Amino acid sequence: MDGIYRFHVSFSIHGATLHSREIGIMEKRVAPLELYRCTPKTNCGECGRPTCFAFATLVVTGQQNVSACPYLGGKELEPLLERLEEQLDRGVGVSREGFEKTMEFLRGEIEKCDFRVVAKSLGAKVEERADGAGLVLPYFNDKLLVTRSDIENLSGGDLSAWEKILVFNYVIGGASEPSGTWVGMESLPNSVSKIKSLKAHCEERLSRLYAGRIDSFSQAVSKWGREVSLKDEGIDLAAQFAVFPKLAIRLLFWDEVQEEGYECRVKFLFDSRVLQVLDLESLLFACEQITDRLSVKR
Ligand code: SF4
Repeated sequence: MDGIYRFHVSFSIHGATLHSREIGIMEKRVAPLELYRCTPKTNCGECGRPTCFAFATLVVTGQQNVSACPYLGGKELEPLLERLEEQLDRGVGVSREGFEKTMEFLRGEIEKCDFRVVAKSLGAKVEERADGAGLVLPYFNDKLLVTRSDIENLSGGDLSAWEKILVFNYVIGGASEPSGTWVGMESLPNSVSKIKSLKAHCEERLSRLYAGRIDSFSQAVSKWGREVSLKDEGIDLAAQFAVFPKLAIRLLFWDEVQEEGYECRVKFLFDSRVLQVLDLESLLFACEQITDRLSVKR
């Protein structure tokens, strides 16, 4: 049963009042096929997905940023993206039930958090508000206001439904001080199923995009993170991204050397205590967020 049909059934059963604007949005809902038609349909995989249709499905359900496809853009796409943004803001999408259930659970967990107690360990500041304390939390280049019911981006940028889940997970986790030891995902417990996803959705995607283009990679890094000096280790470029104040993720980059047959390689590294800060699923999502940002066409 698709979303539109289910919506109209429940409307007629419960006799709920529905505003005409809401009906309009549901009827104009962006379907994966509609976005798919705008892609080049080449299945090149640069977005980290095996096909253009898989990409379109993930974008429409708020699980991937549209900017991950370097071939999508232009004025003709703008009205579709506006509709998509509006529907995602309203939680309308294929994954709506899953998202809402998760948010309901997380809001319950957030209720148990005393923001004044956890703020310092999260690297956040408390903001006293009429409806209770909120947290002002840095997230990449943005500042977020986290309250018990929602998250607002004070910097005015977009924040997808799935990013909200990431933020709530970070707050609930309570953060911890890093060990200072960097490890690959393969060194984190129970990570076997995630290693392949990290490779396909993030590491291979970036290496395909930036092979032979270390200057462009360095430029992209400077927008979202900073380069770190690890020259002794034979790495061409090392970068660090502060996803949250207590969640830094590193990227190592080895450029291709065509004459010697070396391919470009990218590897993500984490603090060895990272699972005290975030669960593995959220960690993978954070890596995808870094990858999406670095993949934006400049
Ligand atoms: S990057 Fe764009 S063209 Fe390539 S597979 Fe992804 S959606 Fe299709």
